[in-house]
This record gives sequence, C-alpha cells and structure tokens, in this order.
Amino acid sequence: MRMKNYEFWFVVGSQFLYGPEVLDTVAERAQKMVDEMNASGSLPCKVVYKVTAKTNKEITDVVKEANYNDACAGIITWCHTFSPSKMWINGLANLQKPYCHLATQFNLEIPNEEIDMDFMNLNQAAHGDREHGFIAARLRMPRKVIAGHWQNESVRERLGEWMRAAVGVQFSKSLKVMRFGDNMREVAVTEGDKVEVQTKLGWQVNTWATGDLVKEMNAVTEEEIDALMAEYTAAYDIATDNIDAIRYQAREEIAIKKMMDAEGCMAFSNTFQDLYGMEQLPGLASQHLMSLGYGYGGEGDWKVAAMTAILKVIGEGKGGGSGFMEDYTYHLVPGSEYSLGAHMLEVCPTFAADKPRIETHHLGIGMNEKDPARLVFEGKAGPAIVVSLVDMGGRLRLICQDIECIKPIMEMPNLPVARVMWRALPNLETGIECWIMAGGAHHTVLSYDVSAEQMRDFARMMDIEFVHINKDTTPEKLEQELFLADLAWKLK
Ligand code: MN
Repeated sequence: MRMKNYEFWFVVGSQFLYGPEVLDTVAERAQKMVDEMNASGSLPCKVVYKVTAKTNKEITDVVKEANYNDACAGIITWCHTFSPSKMWINGLANLQKPYCHLATQFNLEIPNEEIDMDFMNLNQAAHGDREHGFIAARLRMPRKVIAGHWQNESVRERLGEWMRAAVGVQFSKSLKVMRFGDNMREVAVTEGDKVEVQTKLGWQVNTWATGDLVKEMNAVTEEEIDALMAEYTAAYDIATDNIDAIRYQAREEIAIKKMMDAEGCMAFSNTFQDLYGMEQLPGLASQHLMSLGYGYGGEGDWKVAAMTAILKVIGEGKGGGSGFMEDYTYHLVPGSEYSLGAHMLEVCPTFAADKPRIETHHLGIGMNEKDPARLVFEGKAGPAIVVSLVDMGGRLRLICQDIECIKPIMEMPNLPVARVMWRALPNLETGIECWIMAGGAHHTVLSYDVSAEQMRDFARMMDIEFVHINKDTTPEKLEQELFLADLAWKLK
C-alpha cells in the first residue's frame, strides 16, 4: 500500500486574542478530531495535528517543513477561532504541497441553553473560515474547500477522496516512465512535450532500446519463468495448449520488470512497430504488470502509461480497477447504444468480471513471429470514468468522461481479446460528440475506482486544464467552455 506511506498535516488557525485557555482548548480539540478521524478508518492516510497557528512565523515554519517533508502529501487547514489571515500570506505564498481547507466546527449543534458570548468566542469557525477563505482566494491558491461537520461520514469520505488525489500528485511528481521504442509512426494524439509534462506533472519520460530488453529477456532463467508460471496458473485459467507462448510472455514480463525496477520506473510503453528481436508483442506480460500496479500505454503512448500508473495509485485498495483502455468500436442500434473498449492485447485484468483465461491467437498487426498469449475476459458492470491527457500546444488538457459499464450485451465468441462495454454520458452520441470536440484520445485510462471529482482535484493541484463530460453536458455549453478556456489558458 503506497497510500499508507503518506500523511497529511492539520494546521489550525487561531490568534492570541482569546487567552491561553481558549488556545489550549483549541489544541486539545484539534488533537481529538485528528485521533477520531484516524481511528474511523474512513481516511486512506494518517492525519497529523501539527500546530495551532497564532503567528506569521508559525505558519511560515510549518509550510517550509511541509514542503521538504517527503511523507507529507498535503496540508489541511481549519480556523477554530478567527485567525487574521495576513499572517498566513508568507506561508501560503510559498506552499508547494496540496492544500485543503476543511470548513468545519467542533460542535455539531448550537447548544440552546448553554450558548453565551464565551461559547461564541471559542466557536467562531463560521467567520474564521471565511477570513481564511478570502486570503486563499486573494492569493489565487489552487485549493479544495470541503464544508461540513468533521464527524459526518460523507465529509470524511470527501476528505479521503481528496487525500487520494493529493497522493496521486505526490506520486506523479517523481514518476519515471520507460519507453521501449518511439510512438507509433504518424500518430498525433500520443505525441506530447516531455519537457512541459515534466515541468507540470513531474514525469521523467525516457527511452530504452528494445535490443537491451531482448538482452535482458535472454538472461531470464527457466526457474524464474517457472515461478511466474505458478503465479499465472493461480490467477488465471490456462485455455491454450501453447505453453511455450505463455512461457515466452513470462520471460518478457520478468525482463521488463527487472529493467523498470532497476530504474525505479512505474510505467512503460512499447510499440508493435519496434519488436526487433522479440517473437511476440507483450500481451499477457503487460496485462499482468498492470495488475501489479505498473502503468502501461500501447503504441508508444507514454502519457496514458503514466496516467494509468497515477490512477492506480489514487484508487489503490478500492478493488474496482484502473487501466489502459481504447475505444474500439460502437453498437449504434437505437435504444441500445454502447462503446466497445478493448486493445489488441493489453487490457488490465483488474477489470475482469470473472477469472481471466489465457489464450493464444494470431496477431496480424506488428512483427509477431509467434501467436502472442493474452488474457481474455469480460469487464465488470458499474459506474466508471475514462480519462485522457492531451497536449494542446503550450498546455495540457485533462479530459474526463463519466461512463456506465455494463455486462457486454453479446458474447462475441470470436473476439480474441478482453473487452469492456459501456454507455458514455450524457448518452453515447452526445458523449462521443463532446469527447471529439474536446480532442480526447482513443487511448484512455478507464477507472472504476477514481471519480471525476478526484480528477478535477488532480488537475487543479497540477495547474492543468480540466474538462468534464457528464450527464449534464451539452455540445453547446462545452463549445463555449472550450472557447473561453482556450483564451484563459493563453493569458495564464
Ligand atoms: Mn491503441
């Protein structure tokens, strides 16, 4: 669990005006809130109460410390009492970590009999949080605002979901992507400015020779292959007599994994146009690596490879699955309109509704000397999103669409690859129109675990454009939104 390696710092705003007793009470309550939230099991990472801040220096110091602490994935602020916000300027102006303003209060109720001016002076988050909100707005801080009582389960869930997106940001900042071969020739949408991406998102995207991978493959031992075969046999049904093809995929997987682990890479891309020295395009190999948490993108699509790895982290432990996907073909029968997603081999088995089968089939695309082994299965039903990151020239645009996955409406017995079927929102035709207008790619990350709100949080924290296509989107509204965003991002 990579999520558990991170923590979030709770910074509570106050001031000296109310005397030491009030400050002691605030600190005591802040600790109690943190303890109870940590014990609730609703949050994916630990929250650490850091300070009841009363001075510019205390805030500046805690921000400095947060910036340089690798375990700290973000700060959560709240003003139990009024905290004059000019004292926050120096700290917030230097904050480099994700920031959430939890607009809450300690008490759930206004105590009818008990309430007097002392109570009012102690419990003034309602105006303290407004002063705090102003300075963040004035400083144009990218931040999340969550309002509600801290013991309310839905508030904790929202905070937890934001924390997951913030961990995705931290993961992204040090993500390394291993490219075997270039992008597929002539394809535009898989291109991108790697310097811009590294500056904005932190990704180190570099290339390694396919020949070096082949060398690594040749060094894999039969014993190593036996061990991985045992894992395959435990996780999947073997539905082919061609055991050599499966062993060859195991050899590929072991070699790719060794090269990635040696470089600290958590995502990779390859292309069927550059398999020189390999007998099969990695199919089962890439699929099993994705199930282990590595990101993957086909046809050299390093952007989708990296996004796959990031969504896997954000959704870690949720059990639904996130992975590389491609819109392949449509069912356009009126009243029963669906998109069929698949890839030539590499669909992540975390999507599978049932135990995947290992099959071997001929693959006509690319230089496959032998029939590649791959996992074949049907995807699960349920709400999900598809996400595409595109380079608009001068900026990145993250496009997210809500979808409803269904059990595929037909068996497709001759389709030799894993498949997922869904209805895009608001409906298939309008959904396609909007996706195409926004410039979304054919490659996406599909996720049952990550929400559109988390993708919006991620884009805000990364300072990139976000487009959300959902049940309320119309082509007219979207056209206007894209037009205005284009102007705004050029000025930014
Ligand atoms: Mn593709």
